[in-house]
Amino acid sequence: MTTIEKVKISDAEWEIMRVVWSKKQASSQEIVAVLKEKMDWKPATIKTLIGRLVKKEALKTEAAGHRFIYFPRVTEAESVMSATENLFAHVCSKKIGQTIGALIEEATLTHEDIQLLEKLIESKKELAVDEIACNCVPGQCECQEHNN
Ligand SMILES: [Zn+2]
Ligand SMILES: [Zn+2]
Repeated sequence: MTTIEKVKISDAEWEIMRVVWSKKQASSQEIVAVLKEKMDWKPATIKTLIGRLVKKEALKTEAAGHRFIYFPRVTEAESVMSATENLFAHVCSKKIGQTIGALIEEATLTHEDIQLLEKLIESKKELAVDEIACNCVPGQCECQEHNN
């Protein structure tokens, strides 16, 4: 595992990243073309978001003539993973299982997805524990350990 600092991408910035990930590289004009209708954003707003992503080192930029081309510095998979870790960081460690359950309940899944999940669950059975310790600060959690 590398120790690249985790980049936190906001919801708005996520829209920009998705354009750059799917195109592999994009100029600001190309990003504006995709997002100005979907998001009803002004080009200036989009350029501000691009600037933030460059500052956060989620995008790198190269000059091409008198314009700039943007490239992703973080992959989509690693960003989704870090967003998921971020979600779990907001939840008591005792509630992670329920949270995953709620995510599955919300999702529309293919037969293939379900096969994959079944395999994962099967392999998790070997690693299952009887109890998970709460990782919360008292006052931020209502589990038994913190309720008495
Ligand atoms: Zn807790
Ligand atoms: Zn607790």
